[in-house]
Amino acid sequence: MSATARATNHTPAHTPGIPTWEVGNIAVHRIDETSLPPATGPWLLPEATGEVVTQHPWLSPDFADEQGVPRLASHSFALTTGGLRVLVDTGIGNGKPRANPAWNDLNTDYLDRLTQAGFPPESVDLVILTHLHTDHVGWNTRKSGGTWEPTFPRARYLTSRTEWDFWAGYAMDEPRRQMFRDSVDPVRAAGLLDLVDVAENGTDVAPGLRLLPTPGHTPGHLAVGLRDDDATALITGDCVHHPVQLPHPGIGSCVDIDPVQAEATRRSLIRSLADTETLVLGTHFPPPTAGRLRTHGTTHRLAPVPPELRTERL
Ligand SMILES: [Zn+2]
Repeated sequence: MSATARATNHTPAHTPGIPTWEVGNIAVHRIDETSLPPATGPWLLPEATGEVVTQHPWLSPDFADEQGVPRLASHSFALTTGGLRVLVDTGIGNGKPRANPAWNDLNTDYLDRLTQAGFPPESVDLVILTHLHTDHVGWNTRKSGGTWEPTFPRARYLTSRTEWDFWAGYAMDEPRRQMFRDSVDPVRAAGLLDLVDVAENGTDVAPGLRLLPTPGHTPGHLAVGLRDDDATALITGDCVHHPVQLPHPGIGSCVDIDPVQAEATRRSLIRSLADTETLVLGTHFPPPTAGRLRTHGTTHRLAPVPPELRTERL
């Protein structure tokens, strides 16, 4: 962690209402947790300099500021398919002791927003963890009577077996051990964690919902494909952190475990999504968060598809 990543000038990412996209008959809701501090972009994506980012005016003002500093956010996606209520990734979490001040001891209204979207915690059936990093597993648990208890007590929590096996054999430093202790181990101890053997071309875990191996950021990283009739969408997880990586797939994040594989995954993803109608939902993309990949000169860009804001209880 660099010193520059330690700035803590949060601004709430919250918007009135719940941002929602339709994928066929599947409504996908963005559940905001927080925007990430401006120092996060230059730390996470060191090659996404102002000089590089400002070459792409379409990135500003939504995805980068005028100086070309990338903006990033933390949120989950919640959706219902085949009668199952699904949450994809669980953010940073409240009250977690973290070395990164931007993630330490948060107190956000994430659970209220999830409930407002029509997903009270006890109603969630499936929690998909794209990978086991701190900012994707935080709301797996919440503190109850001094211990960390599963937030979604009726849910099956899914991640890839490859991901689990990698971390099981990894010499973790203390902050990472802490994260497993407070956010992963309690779910496993409660018997709620399922390890999925994900096939090379993906594995369906619910009607219209497919886990897609997208390794590199972590070895067992998953993107999530959605399909209803002819409509398709893809939730990126962290195989793409930011839209600047679409024209520059060679820009990696400083926390990619295998940078060469991560770039190969991004390139193949971009090839398969370019000029299709698949809606790309970015797990760290700030609002408007989603769009379609379009060829733009010799590279690619995101053509944003803003969400509809739903204010009524869904
Ligand atoms: Zn992340």
